[in-house]
Order: sequence, then C-alpha cells, then structure tokens
Amino acid sequence: AEEMMIRSEKMSVAGQLAAGIAHEIRNPLTSLKGFLQLLQAGVNRKDAYHKIMVDEIEKMESITSELLFISKPMTEHKEMESLSEMIEDVVTLLKPQARLKSIEILMGQEINQDVKCDRSQIKQVFINILKNAIEAMNDPGCIKISSHLRKEEILIDMIDEGPGIPEEVIHKLGEPFFTTKQNGTGLGLMISQQILERHEGKLEILQNVNTGSTFRVILPLP
Ligand code: ADP
Ligand code: MG
Repeated sequence: AEEMMIRSEKMSVAGQLAAGIAHEIRNPLTSLKGFLQLLQAGVNRKDAYHKIMVDEIEKMESITSELLFISKPMTEHKEMESLSEMIEDVVTLLKPQARLKSIEILMGQEINQDVKCDRSQIKQVFINILKNAIEAMNDPGCIKISSHLRKEEILIDMIDEGPGIPEEVIHKLGEPFFTTKQNGTGLGLMISQQILERHEGKLEILQNVNTGSTFRVILPLP
C-alpha cells in the first residue's frame, strides 16, 4: 500500500508539473518551427540559426530528462552526490512553473558539499517542498534556498513568501492525505519525511513572522 501511495504521488507531481512543462516546451518548439521555415525559404544566416536551434533542442532535452526520474521506481541507491547539482536540477525543473506566477527561485552561494544519498529521492524531497512553496505564494516574489553546516550535518533552508502555516495546522503536516488544497494529495510532505528518515536526516518547519515559511532539510555529512 505504501508503494502505491508513493507511486500515485509521483504521478501527481508529474501531473501538476505538466502545465509548466508544456509551456516551457512549447516556446522552443514555436521557435524551432519558425527557424525551419526561414531555412526553407533559403536565408543566408544558416549558421546562426543552427546554433539557436540546437540551444532550443537542448532546453527541451534537459526538461524531459528531468521528468524521467519521477517515473523511476522507489529503489534506493546511495552514492556520493553533489548537493548543489541536485538543487540546480530541481530548480531548472520548477522554474517554468514558478515563472508562470512571477516567482523567482534564488540560490544562495554555491553549496559545495557532497552527501551520501539516493539522488532521485533527495531531489524528490526538494521538488515536493519547493512546489509547495510556489503553490503557497499568491503574489510575485522569491523563494530563497540557502544552506549552512552545523556540526556533522548540512542544513538546507527553503524560504518562501507565502502566508505561512496556521498554528492549528502545523502539527498535521506530514500526516498522509492532509491537504488544504483543492487538488492536493497531502502526500508530498509525508513522503519527504520518509525519504529523509531513510537518510538519517529530517525535515523541520520554521515560521517566519509575516514573511512565510521556511522548510529545512537536514542531512548528515559523510
Ligand atoms: P499537498 O501539497 O498535496 O497539499 P503536502 O504534503 O505537500 O500536500 O502539503 C500538505 C499541506 O501543508 C498543504 O496542503 C499546505 O496546507 C501545507 N503547506 C506545505 N508547504 C507549505 C508552505 N510552504 N506554505 C504554506 N503551507 C504549506
Ligand atoms: Mg505538496
């Protein structure tokens, strides 16, 4: 049953990302079509056009390859992974969705740290939290990601400018199916907590008075 829930959440993550992804892929496609028509008309700036076309194709390539990991099964492969790389991947994936709401995702200084983890699972945690942050924000603004070291662990803070979490709701977060959203699954935080537990890490929620919430992922250092 647990596996089923995890799988259905993954589908819904993919499903909810679809609008943003479609938008992000349609733009390069439109541009490619235009350049193909120009080339067909026999223009003389072929090389410049080729370069732009390859760039557009690469953009679509990275988006689609990011999507693939969501459909992978839930097996654990822990390896040394670069934290900054994982976060950059996730930010690339979520940027289209953020852009639709005029939200910027800002990364603090380079997080130069490797952690031993299952790459796709830890990326899933960042996706779940950042997606919630985007969904919580009703106005344009930014989501900040920062990290620092504390003893034998690394702390990654994701700070949004949403309305924050009401006191009476905060203890329910992470309960399966607890959602305040019309189309929510209420599984994202639960799955994130489970993944972090399997990594001897944890998830903390800090309230910022008047300025939204901070979700803090804690992972042990190797
Ligand atoms: P879902 O996103 O499907 O509702 P989650 O488990 O991801 O499920 O989140 C559960 C609930 O936690 C959300 O419905 C929302 O009420 C609350 N929540 C999570 N992240 C935030 C956030 N950044 N700001 C405000 N509320 C949040
Ligand atoms: Mg969610």
